[in-house]
This record gives sequence, C-alpha cells and structure tokens, in this order.
Amino acid sequence: MTGLLEGRSAIVTGAAQGIGLAIATVLAEHGARVSIADLDGEKAAAAAAGIAGEARGVACDVTDEASVAGLVTGAVEAYGGLDVLVNNAGITRDASLRKMTLENFQAVVTVHLQGTWLGIRAASEVMREARAGSIINISSMSGKVGNPGQTNYSAAKAGIVGMTKAAAKELAHHGVRVNAIQPGLIRTPMTEAMTPEAWAATEATIPMRRAGEPEEIANVVAFLASDLASYMTGAVLEVSGGRGM
Ligand code: NAP
Repeated sequence: MTGLLEGRSAIVTGAAQGIGLAIATVLAEHGARVSIADLDGEKAAAAAAGIAGEARGVACDVTDEASVAGLVTGAVEAYGGLDVLVNNAGITRDASLRKMTLENFQAVVTVHLQGTWLGIRAASEVMREARAGSIINISSMSGKVGNPGQTNYSAAKAGIVGMTKAAAKELAHHGVRVNAIQPGLIRTPMTEAMTPEAWAATEATIPMRRAGEPEEIANVVAFLASDLASYMTGAVLEVSGGRGM
C-alpha cells in the first residue's frame, strides 16, 4: 500500500465493526495512525490490535459531549495532532410511522446528528489551529431518497448533508475540509438483520446488481482524507453502485 496518509492522526467513530472497522483498516494501510472509537472500549481495543499498522482503541459515546472531547484530546496526545475525523457511528431503529416511538426517533437523531456535530465541533478546534484537516461524515442514500420505515434515519442522514455543507463553509478558509459520503446497501452487521427476501429485493434495484463491501466505502474515505482531494469541500459522494442516482 501507498503512504498516502503517512503519519497522519485519524479518528474513526463506531469503528469496532462494519464500515468503521474497514475505514480504520484502510486508513492504517495508507500509513495513518488510527484512534478506533466505539461504545464498547474492549471491542475497540480488540479491533485496534487486529489492524496491521498503528492503532489504538478508545471507548467513546458520540452522543456525550465530554466523551467526544476526551476522544479528540486523547488522539492529539497519543499521535501529536488530529488530521482526519470520520464520523461513522450509527444506529437504526426502523419502524413504520404507526409503530415508531418517540424514543426510536430521538435515539437515531441523537446518535447521527448530535454525534456528528459534537465530533465536527471538537475536531475543528484542533484542525483550525493547525490550518489543516479533513472531516468525513457518513450519511446514507436513505437521506437522499428516503426509505419507508426509516423516517428517523432518513431525516438524520439528510441532516448530516446540511451540517456537512454548513461546516464546510465555516471551516474552508481555516484549511479544514468537510465532506460526506452516502453509502448504498453495504454488507455489515447493521444490514445482516435484513431477511434474505428483503436483501434480494434491494439488490435487484441496484444498477450494479450487488451490494457493496465495507472496503468500497473505506477507499473513498481514504481519498477524501488525503491530499488527492485537496480542492474538495462540502461534497456529498454517492457510493451506491448507482442506486438512487
Ligand atoms: P454497524 O455494523 O452497526 O456499526 C456501527 C458501530 O457504531 C457499532 O460498533 C456501534 O456499536 C457503534 N455505535 C453505535 N452508537 C454509538 C455511539 N453512540 N457512540 C459510538 N459508537 C456507536 O453499522 P455499519 O453498517 O458499519 O454502519 C456504519 C455507518 O454507515 C453508520 O453511520 C450507518 O448509518 C452508515 N450506513 C450504513 C449502510 C449499510 O448498508 N450498512 C448504508 C448507508 C449508511 P454497537 O454495536 O454497540 O451499537
């Protein structure tokens, strides 16, 4: 692998499994030193130990202000700065409007919107001082096209797009870039809950006729994190095999 991100300090939230783990793995392969943050600190540490390259596991709840502040401070202390933040942590609580509870709605909106906002705010404090940094927010095609049963999730993921653009405009002249990715259907523990019928029906709607792998999201994150994307900010990249274009 190349040293595209050689020596850079990167944080990935929700990175003990799924897309986040793939992102952490690929960033480390490109030379980054990665702080793997997840609710379960032991799982995060085990994930870090399994990565070829420099990585550390950290317990962090992205909805908690002090926890996110500690995550950023810890990364700066461990790796001498913060160059990349990937706001990836996420949950689903799918239900129709008739069955969705207020708790289901608030939980999803809080993890995705408050979590991403706390991350952007804490990381940008460090990055604007350094006059460099790249923040990548994981939205979803659900936030572009809307999915039945996901009024909470689609709203939160669309909100991440607005937040990305607003933060990109605030931070551009400080040398900090903020972009978002909208993955389509990706094979992870989050989507393993789908029935085989629902999975097949969704795959049939994808022009490329297959779900994506977590590494296919991670590779786009590596690009946005690197200097290859030095003139990109406020962009929203669809990585969906053509679904929802
Ligand atoms: P996943 O396998 O469920 O992984 C998400 C990780 O985030 C889990 O380890 C989870 O921990 C952690 N997490 C949840 N709440 C957290 C919190 N408050 N603080 C810190 N960590 C937290 O999901 P995934 O499929 O990899 O999804 C990753 C991101 O991609 C999410 O933002 C998701 O919405 C987005 N996405 C996924 C797909 C897809 O098809 N898979 C498509 C579009 C977008 P627990 O397991 O303990 O809850």
